[in-house]
Amino acid sequence: MYYNYKCKDCDCQFEVKISPNDLDKVVCPECSGKQLQRIYKNVAMFVKYGKYGGAMGPKPNAASDACSSCPHGVGSGGGG
Ligand SMILES: [Zn+2]
Repeated sequence: MYYNYKCKDCDCQFEVKISPNDLDKVVCPECSGKQLQRIYKNVAMFVKYGKYGGAMGPKPNAASDACSSCPHGVGSGGGG
């Protein structure tokens, strides 16, 4: 198990990998102090998705039926 601690003495933060039974044996790697505070990281971080709302609202057509503004299909000039 990984545990995150913060030393109250030198104010450094570190991570240790020990057994839950050996939590009292943890010392600061910097100053070997035992005034440690357990740090609980926030793992519940959610990312908000604002663009994809739901079924409501007009769905954008993926494939357009025709390109009106395109010069390809608009009129046919003679000449040549
Ligand atoms: Zn320390």
